Amino acid sequence: MHPYSSLADTQKGLRDGSLTCDSVLRHFLARIEKEKHLNAFLEVFTQSALEKAAEVDKKIKAGKAGKLAGLVIALKDNICYKGHVVTASSKILDGFQSLYSATVVERLLAEDAIIIGRCNCDEFAMGSSNENSAFGTVKNPRDNKRVSGGSSGGSTVAVAANLCHAALGTDTGGSIRQPASFCGVVGMKPTYGRVSRHGIIAYASSFDQVGPLTNNVQDAASILEVIAGGDEFDSTLSTKPVPDYSKTASAKQGPVRIAYIKDCVDHPGLDPEIRNYMKGLIEQLQQEGHTLHAIDFPYLDYLVPAYYVLTTAEASSNLGRYDGVHFGYRSPNATDLESTYKKSRSEGFGAEVKRRIMLGTFVLSEGYYDAYYSKAQKVRRLIQDKTKEIFAGHDFILLPTTPGTAFEFGANSADPIKMYLEDIFTVHANHAGIPAISLPMVNHSNGLPFGVQLMASHFEEASLFRFAQELMNISALKTSV
Ligand code: GLN
Repeated sequence: MHPYSSLADTQKGLRDGSLTCDSVLRHFLARIEKEKHLNAFLEVFTQSALEKAAEVDKKIKAGKAGKLAGLVIALKDNICYKGHVVTASSKILDGFQSLYSATVVERLLAEDAIIIGRCNCDEFAMGSSNENSAFGTVKNPRDNKRVSGGSSGGSTVAVAANLCHAALGTDTGGSIRQPASFCGVVGMKPTYGRVSRHGIIAYASSFDQVGPLTNNVQDAASILEVIAGGDEFDSTLSTKPVPDYSKTASAKQGPVRIAYIKDCVDHPGLDPEIRNYMKGLIEQLQQEGHTLHAIDFPYLDYLVPAYYVLTTAEASSNLGRYDGVHFGYRSPNATDLESTYKKSRSEGFGAEVKRRIMLGTFVLSEGYYDAYYSKAQKVRRLIQDKTKEIFAGHDFILLPTTPGTAFEFGANSADPIKMYLEDIFTVHANHAGIPAISLPMVNHSNGLPFGVQLMASHFEEASLFRFAQELMNISALKTSV
């Protein structure tokens, strides 16, 4: 095993003295420099990372290092880190420095992770291809003509191209899992309310969750164990105790009950090879003694429309604070207060963000509120109730992460609806608030990876990791479809 590919291997090297945090960090800094053309990082925090590495090396010698000692991790550019710039890949936050650190950042640092930099993403996390960043697209390391996926494209590529051990992303409708599927890494969205959103630049507050992107299930479990759990700064957070995910991930698990949604596997938009692979996997799991049930989910066609009504409504409210007065960019062409608002927002936001602010404002407006916003809320409730019903008789729902493999730059840009439909298999978990993970089990015959997705009931992350590990053990036997 490569000593830099997982936290466990790196920590083994740190223990036996063949590695130091400084040497591990320098290895990744050199990799970032070498793979600059991918455009995964917007900024490398060289100095603060080197300082932290030196501090952790000392702690290791003194036998006082934290759980994540030696882990080199990147942040999506919508996670605040005190004294460091954060922009949400938007011109409107140009030059803005965080005044405090997000709770997840504080928890990572407290356990001696080394934060290496901030990663490119779609502007305000709105997108499925990282083509909406004000700072350029991110190239898929497997094929540079193709997108990374989004919105956590830079974070995902940083992990896939081995520029760091792991990264944090955010997932509002698939932004961790979809790029993970396109780039061949593990991407995990925790239960809504498991990880603090304090210090995360909001997109849609009732959907957003922070989660890990890693090269293996075990690292994802180790990171979640550190960042999860109650926080007085986020009132939507559960105070449920956080299990030892890092230990349970490798535990043995008996037969499980798995549901798969017939219409997902038979969906006409699904790549035929992915469909065949899913069908084969279902059979194989059955042979191994698990129970598999084909189930109906009558709301499949409503998932994406309801998601875009609700998230744009929440975004239109969340993004009201960027007014050219409080944060970042102020138009030099403004002459009075009103033109400060208008020009700063018009010049500072990109096209997709403006489209969503307008859509969200429209669905909330008097006269249309009941027709769109209220109705979408009702749809969300139906999705939640039906999901609960499924989990009353099953441990997991198994489905693809994405309808296809990574597409070429520009392929979906002319038609926003086409781009939005990329999220068809991921938004379910965000509507329902349940945990979900995308696993890089095999490659397509076109050479690109695609993810297999597993969803579990609220706060069932430990069993999700356990079964995810079992699926990865199956995939180790097979590398292509
Ligand atoms: N692609 C989805 C969107 O554009 C998801 C984004 C996300 O999860 N942040 O809204």
